[in-house]
Amino acid sequence: MRILGPVLLALGGVLTIIGVGSFLLGFFAIVSGSSSSGTSTLFFLALPGMALLGIGGMITQAGYLKEVAQYTALETSPAVTTTVSAIKSALTEDDILCSSCSAPIEPDSKFCSSCGIEITKLQCAKCHAEIEPDDKYCGSCGTTIT
Ligand SMILES: [Zn+2]
Ligand SMILES: [Zn+2]
Repeated sequence: MRILGPVLLALGGVLTIIGVGSFLLGFFAIVSGSSSSGTSTLFFLALPGMALLGIGGMITQAGYLKEVAQYTALETSPAVTTTVSAIKSALTEDDILCSSCSAPIEPDSKFCSSCGIEITKLQCAKCHAEIEPDDKYCGSCGTTIT
């Protein structure tokens, strides 16, 4: 069954090319306005050509869908997993950056994993509660942060 898809694709492609070619030849015969027996024969090739085009199209579509189904079954799971993990890492990525090398730092790490510097968090001078760099007042005791 693995070889059936490509074979159908090739067959459908050949039939489609023949059909399109015949149709174009017939079309050009009409455009040229020639009434000779040779061009009228080419024109009537457009009819079986269209039929071949339809059949080739259906076969190509069937083979293509089969290939897509196999490809999807094989490739979807890892792709989805990669995408999900990428989204997860983007969502969980913290804005804390190393003050020394600006590498992103995990919220609970004590040392920068990139340059090894110790991560010192800002503390309130009065109650030693953890404060953010842009805080104006300590969230714990209300002391003005200078
Ligand atoms: Zn660092
Ligand atoms: Zn405080």
